[in-house]
Order: sequence, then structure tokens, then C-alpha cells
Amino acid sequence: MTKFIGVKTSLVSICFLLMSLVVVSQVPFVAQWVNDISVNQLALLMLISFLFASQFNHSRFALLIALFALVLVLELKLVNLTEHWVITPEIVNLSVIFFFGGLAFLKDRSLFSIHLVSRIALFVVAYLFAQAWLLGVDTLMEIAKDNTYFQVVKPYLSIELPLMSVILIYLVKSLKTTHLFYPAALASVVLWYLTQANINVISWQLSLTLLVCYYLISVIASSYFLAYRDELTGLPSRRALNQLALSLGRKYSVAMMDVDHFKKFNDTYGHDIGDQVLKLVAAKLKQVKAGGKVFRYGGEEFTVVFPRKNAEQVFDELDNLRQSIADYQMVIRQGVRKTKKDRDPKNKPTMQEKMVSVTISIGVAQRSSGQSFEQVLKSADELLYKAKKRGRNNVTK
Ligand code: GH3
Ligand code: MG
Ligand code: MG
Repeated sequence: MTKFIGVKTSLVSICFLLMSLVVVSQVPFVAQWVNDISVNQLALLMLISFLFASQFNHSRFALLIALFALVLVLELKLVNLTEHWVITPEIVNLSVIFFFGGLAFLKDRSLFSIHLVSRIALFVVAYLFAQAWLLGVDTLMEIAKDNTYFQVVKPYLSIELPLMSVILIYLVKSLKTTHLFYPAALASVVLWYLTQANINVISWQLSLTLLVCYYLISVIASSYFLAYRDELTGLPSRRALNQLALSLGRKYSVAMMDVDHFKKFNDTYGHDIGDQVLKLVAAKLKQVKAGGKVFRYGGEEFTVVFPRKNAEQVFDELDNLRQSIADYQMVIRQGVRKTKKDRDPKNKPTMQEKMVSVTISIGVAQRSSGQSFEQVLKSADELLYKAKKRGRNNVTK
């Protein structure tokens, strides 16, 4: 079963953009302010955003900005595009759509590297594809010129069909991954199309300003997530824990948790299953009550911080967590190669479901007066060591 893990991020991103659109078009002083932005200022904003996105390894955002910069130049320099057979508005429109299509399958590789060549090639390939597509559609129409049905669908074949396919690709990618690029690209391609079809709430230049700001915010947000979120479990990382430590008051408790005999577990089931189990343990830990904040400390170790609570107040909650993990029969998916044909690395292994369980040990310490966060953490770690010595699968305070 494929999970739609990107629903939340997609909804948040699209709502954010829609709200900005409403604000820009409806709030008079904002509308005025954005309207006053000149082409030069927009170009500067694009340049800054381009450099920022490339620097932070979000090269696809950078490429989108480059694409729109190119469109802007074409629009400004070649006011009457119809006079140039090589660059008609239809070709520009379709090239942009194909460019979006190609971008959906590229990775965020550094622009200032060998990959720059393939990225530049994408512009050329999108343009050639657009030419070939239109030629193909025209030829098809020529062949079927007596067929009235074909003549009716022609406009939909040349633009709408590729457009809808690209929208569909981005919709699926947005829903299936949490990467902020996909909802941003989805919104961009829709806005682009609306502009081309003259269905615009705001002018294209305004939409572009908004989109570039939106890319900039997306790059900042995902850089933050990269730095402060653990990729495997989605929990805040140790860096986020250190950040929280700076804002804690005088009273708090810290629990250190460690999965029992996890090395043996990995040896028995393999590292991939180990990873799946860590994800499931993290999901259980996220359900912690009593105001606890969960972090992945590293490896198979987790930390829960309880602001304004002493160890006594959180002991029962931690013991409930421990128990719920010990009782949790986790369903994991494992690829098995049973037959000779299966063993061929070219064939995908058959997926099988398996039930496994693990236990965790917990050490919990509260802050005594004058102690630093590091000292409380160290005490919790010592108590965790004690919990292990006591036979594991227990909470020690
Ligand atoms: P103990 O009950 O004393 O904690 O035994 P242990 O085997 O869990 O302890 P130890 O700290 O010696 O081993 C931790 C193991 O956890 C080592 C490594 O195989 C595994 N591990 C650490 N990080 C990860 C990870 O991200 N994924 C997976 N699959 N395994 C990990
Ligand atoms: Mg350990
Ligand atoms: Mg362990």
C-alpha cells in the first residue's frame, strides 16, 4: 500500500499560496505595494532567490526561477512573439509545460557542478519537444482533416493534454512525498496555465512576484526541516533538542530511551527492517502525553523532555509508553526471494508481512537546582544504564 504522506504539506503549501493570492488581490495597501514593484525589482528578487536556492541545494527551485526569468525576457524583448516562427506564444507555452514535466523527474543536484550541462539541456529538450509535439499534432490533423471529431479535439491535444499530464504527475508526487517542491511546482504550472488562458485574478507579473516569494519561503522552510528533522523518523533531531534546551525554565524532566538488544535485532532481521522498526517506535513515542517533546537523539536512542514536570509526575506516562511499545506487534514488510526466478536481481522480490516486537529501557531525571541541561541529560543517561542493568524493558528514575 502506498501511503499519501504528502497530503498535509501539500494542503498547507497550497492554502498558504491561495491566502497570499487573496491578500495581494483584496487588501488595498498590499495590492498597491506589490503593484508598485518594478520589473527591475522583480529581476533582483529573482536573482537573489535563484542564488539562495542554488546555494541551499534546491536546484529545482532555482531552475524554475531561471525558466520564468527567461519567459520574462522573451515577453519583454519579443513583444510581438507571433512574428518569430521559432518562438511563438504557443511554443513558449508548451515549452514551459514540457520543462515542468522534465523537472518532475530530476533530482536536486548542485547546479554548479557537472549536472549543470543536463540542466541546461532540459531547456533545449523542452523546446524541441514542444516543436515536435506541435508538428505531430498538425500532421495528425492533416491526415484526419475530414474527421470533424479530430478538428474539435485539436486545441486540447496541443496544449491541454500535455498540461493535464504534467498537472497529474505533480499532483501524485505532491501527495506521495513531503518535498515542498512538488506542491510549489503544481501551483506554478496551474497559475501559468491560467495566465495563458487569460483567466487571471492578478497580473502575470504579480503572480510571478508571489511565486518567487513562495519559492524562497519553501527553500527556507525545507532547509529548516533538513537541519532540524530526522529524516528516517520525522522526529525533531538532536540539533532541535539543543535549541529547546535554551528555552527551558528551571523545572523540567528528561527521559533517555534506548531500544533493547537492537544490534541483535538488526543482525536477525537486517538493517532495513531495523529502520522500519525505528520509525514505528518513533510513531508510538510521538503519542506521549504530559506535554512531552520527543527527539531522536541518535541511532536507536530517543529523548523526551517534559517542561514544568518532575520525574514523579512523568513516571507513569513513561511506563505506559514503555508498555505500549512492548505490547506493540509491528507489521513490517520484507522482500523475500523464494524461487529461482525471484532470485534474479532484475525481478522485484515478493513482499511479505511479518510481525515483530521490541522493548525499550528508559532512564528519567529531573533538573535539580543549579544543574545545566547537559548535566540533567547525563543523569538520565546514567539512569538508562541502570535500567539496562536491571534487566531492560523498565523505567528507572
Ligand atoms: P542494549 O540493549 O544494551 O541497548 O543493546 P543494543 O544492541 O541495542 O546496544 P548498542 O548500543 O550496542 O547497539 C545499538 C545498535 O543499534 C547498533 C546498530 O546496529 C543499531 N542502530 C543504530 N542506529 C540505527 C539505525 O538508524 N538503523 C538501524 N537499523 N539500526 C541502528
Ligand atoms: Mg544504544
Ligand atoms: Mg540499544
